[in-house]
Amino acid sequence: MTIAENAAHVREWIADAAARAGRAPGSVALVAVSKTVPAAAIVEAYAAGLRDFGENRVQEAVEKYETLAVQMPDARWHLIGHLQRNKVKDAIACASMIHSIDSLRLAEALEARCAAAGRVLPVLIEVNAGEEASKSGYRPSASLDLLYREAAQIAALPHLRLDGLMTVAPFAPDPEAARPVFARVRALRDDLAARLGRPLPQLSMGMSGDFRAAIAEGATLVRIGTAIFGERKAAA
Ligand SMILES: *Cc1c(COP(=O)(O)O)cnc(C)c1O
Repeated sequence: MTIAENAAHVREWIADAAARAGRAPGSVALVAVSKTVPAAAIVEAYAAGLRDFGENRVQEAVEKYETLAVQMPDARWHLIGHLQRNKVKDAIACASMIHSIDSLRLAEALEARCAAAGRVLPVLIEVNAGEEASKSGYRPSASLDLLYREAAQIAALPHLRLDGLMTVAPFAPDPEAARPVFARVRALRDDLAARLGRPLPQLSMGMSGDFRAAIAEGATLVRIGTAIFGERKAAA
């Protein structure tokens, strides 16, 4: 199967999952996760109509952004992995959106850089809803207070635009197992939006193995790598 064929299938599956949930097909955007994927394959995906690409390492994102800027002028790069504060400058050079805000300090570092650059950056707060030690993100059961308090402070930063929440569900062979995790993130989003008094329209959740369950629970951005580009060679 070519990347174009894979992309077409993934789009059909997304539309199908949206229809089952009574949602419009256009209400779920596809972010093609291109970490470890060579530039030529990314260009193929672009030629197949994909415009949103997700990377989890800043260095790799910057390299691809620079290498592909001419060939893919309207591509949008999403940073979806844990971001270190010392990489913030490089991050804002390439990112259209950062999905993985996991501390107020990181948000403040981004705010300072975006203010200096005179731009407003859309961001999502990462929630470790499966409460896994190996993952970054706010843990709601450890401290819901901390999440709500820092979210309010992040939402008030003038050069960041808090658009919603992101989560990576624990791996499970049964894709439906992730559904309660996604439901929990949606409920947190609803609660937080009510507290902030403004909508948080985006829910970034669902990967190749569990995007149907995520769409059923309200995902607006699904991050899909393997189903488009095939198995990754190295762990990333
Ligand atoms: C790698 C990755 C994905 C994509 O995973 P696939 O299973 O290949 O679809 C999605 N989100 C994050 C945060 C990732 O690191």
